[in-house]
Amino acid sequence: MSNLHLSVTKTPTGWQLPGIANLHSHAFQRAMAGMAERQANPEDSFWTWRETMYRFAARFDPDTLHAVAAQVYAEMLEAGYTTVCEFHYLHHAPDGTPYDDPAAMSRAIIRAARDTGIRLTLLPVLYMQGGFDGRALSERQRRFGHDVDGYLRLFDMLLPEINDGMKLGCALHSLRAVPAEAMHSLLPRLPSDAPIHIHIAEQIGEVQDCMAMRNARPVEWLLDNADVSDRWTLVHATHLTSGETQGIAKSGATVAICPTTEANLGDGLFPLRNYLDANGAWGIGSDSHISVSPVEELRWLEYGQRLLTRHRNIAVREASPSVGETLMRGVAASSAQASGFAGTGDVVVLDGGAAQLAGATQDDVVDRWIFSGNRNLVDEVHVAGQRVVAEGQHRDRDAIASGYGAAMRPLLA
Ligand SMILES: [Zn+2]
Repeated sequence: MSNLHLSVTKTPTGWQLPGIANLHSHAFQRAMAGMAERQANPEDSFWTWRETMYRFAARFDPDTLHAVAAQVYAEMLEAGYTTVCEFHYLHHAPDGTPYDDPAAMSRAIIRAARDTGIRLTLLPVLYMQGGFDGRALSERQRRFGHDVDGYLRLFDMLLPEINDGMKLGCALHSLRAVPAEAMHSLLPRLPSDAPIHIHIAEQIGEVQDCMAMRNARPVEWLLDNADVSDRWTLVHATHLTSGETQGIAKSGATVAICPTTEANLGDGLFPLRNYLDANGAWGIGSDSHISVSPVEELRWLEYGQRLLTRHRNIAVREASPSVGETLMRGVAASSAQASGFAGTGDVVVLDGGAAQLAGATQDDVVDRWIFSGNRNLVDEVHVAGQRVVAEGQHRDRDAIASGYGAAMRPLLA
């Protein structure tokens, strides 16, 4: 009946599924998860959260970044993610001075991926200005910044790192952080197969600023001004007109939806039903890592739509009445184009002895995994044929957790 159906198989010990790509991650934010949940002001919003995040971001160095990234990557593997697209913008020392090795922070991410065994699509971020009006980066943003030439030097420095477990792509932070001329100058100078990711239309304020300065909504502007294709991943794309929804679907780009982070930040709800009707490509990301679980992302993707429409079973296709299967098929279908990895040899095995899966069949096992309870049913994970998780635990879980604990002390000091 479907591609996914063929790749869900019963083994003597469990249920085998394809590995899942996490299309959007800021690894460092794992260390502040759960620490921005106290009201400081009745007007708390995405923009006040961002100030807290900037204060936190200012404390990282390559060693602490490595320890935190290793922790979150091990958690991802234990949850069933086998690939991570790391949208990486902590480039320089906190005052904006490049490190002696200008790629030191990128190399910390690469090391964390290698140590844990997750596939990494590293997306160094171009971040140039503090808003659509071209204002300079704020003090807190200085460590994120490059001009186009500096960015390309970093990109070239990272090219030799590409191997079977690592790909290199490009991230434009957002339309507000990258002027139009810079985007036009950069894109033709990238390798023609490099994936391109961008944050877009996450917040209403960003849509309004874009309208004011560029006379178009963000997605509308991007579709009119860039050759958006299946190389592109649009992260969030929360606030869309129906024309924009159709336009993204037609372009072949993937939307990276991050339901738990979008809920946590009060962003809004992606128009999933209209996008599925337009045959749009999409995947999921754990973004700020307030949750590291494809089950929770997919569950809340569907639940958001149910709460909005007061109906049930929204994410289905004509050929697939199962919500879980439709969701997993969507994720599997976009994985290679958004990450650059075919994911060969990536397997997740669910515990066949778990009570939640008692009597499961090939027809209902994915629904039962996603929509029944909170025990992590992932028993084994294999990346490129190598087993990295056994009995639900990453092979280096304890050592990585102790490195993370040590890194948290200076971060919280
Ligand atoms: Zn993001």
